[in-house]
Amino acid sequence: MSMCSLLTQVEESGPCRNRQGQLPYGIRKNQLDSQPTMHCQQNLTASLLSLLVGVCALSAMRDARAWGDEGHKIIALIAYGRLSEPARHKVDALLADDEDTLTPADFASRATWADRYRDSDRNGSKTRYLSTRQWHFVDINLDDLIAKPDLDTPCHGFPKLPQNVLASNGPAGDCVVTKIEQFQQELQRSASPAERLLALKFLMHFVGDLHQPLHAAEHNHDKGGNEVLVLFGRHHVAQDKLNLHAYWDTQLVSMLGKDPNAVAQSLILDMKSSDAQRWEQGTPQDWAKDTFAVAKAKAYDLARMEHRSATVKRKREDGSPMLMPVDVTVLDGQYANDMLLVAREQLQKAGVRLATVLEGAL
Ligand SMILES: [Zn+2]
Repeated sequence: MSMCSLLTQVEESGPCRNRQGQLPYGIRKNQLDSQPTMHCQQNLTASLLSLLVGVCALSAMRDARAWGDEGHKIIALIAYGRLSEPARHKVDALLADDEDTLTPADFASRATWADRYRDSDRNGSKTRYLSTRQWHFVDINLDDLIAKPDLDTPCHGFPKLPQNVLASNGPAGDCVVTKIEQFQQELQRSASPAERLLALKFLMHFVGDLHQPLHAAEHNHDKGGNEVLVLFGRHHVAQDKLNLHAYWDTQLVSMLGKDPNAVAQSLILDMKSSDAQRWEQGTPQDWAKDTFAVAKAKAYDLARMEHRSATVKRKREDGSPMLMPVDVTVLDGQYANDMLLVAREQLQKAGVRLATVLEGAL
């Protein structure tokens, strides 16, 4: 079934944030900021059993922007602050020649460019979409019983680029780890300023993607949590975001604050130099395994969560509606609070490692 054969209908049951992010009457902003979910929790009542959960775009969320724009900007700002003066000048000089209009021209916004590029013809020819969509993640299987995470399978054995093929024209099936390695080499060695600019912008994004736990793992073929329906708080989010992947992409990051600059500064201040030195070590493959371990131990630690039945309204191929029972995982306030700390550290790691990658290539 294609993802938009699913209808969208959500029955919501009380005030929290509405879809525009406004606060309803009687809830103060600082209540939400300090208690990201607990105050919303009590309204998950038995009425949930009859909830109609619309999940159009459920599968498409695999292509969601890991960390959302905000997360990518936070990572970029952390990295930029760690660059040496010479490296920063080189980055600035490369970006100064960029006439692309898919994003604003500032450094933080350019970290979101790879998502914009991928989605720019998603509803049209799909050329960019199909040739780059798999570059954003690495689906390491959580269900394998082998001791080590298997990167070879999702990364197809890390094939070398064919001779005279630019990384920006590389195979569509490459994983995010392969692309980081390729673009890092190009940023270092390519004679073409245009390709070096592309390499820089892809790196600024992909190092971030690599640190979203659900971009480095999948469980029961759930497309990195995209097919795990979740409820949290008394959410009023758009129905296409009611899954675990999207929760990690945007919900957790939004709890950190609205201003990427302020969040980045806070994360920089909170970072121990001993941690940063440790995170700088290793390779993109090591970092993928590190992120996978976080996914396995933290993000997918859902056994203790309450599970409820809900009814999903879907369309058959002929367009007629049908109802299907599904399992919904209720993410409680404890999960939110614990994972908020994990998300903070993943953003910090990504910022540190992005700086390391750029510093090494420039
Ligand atoms: Zn991405």
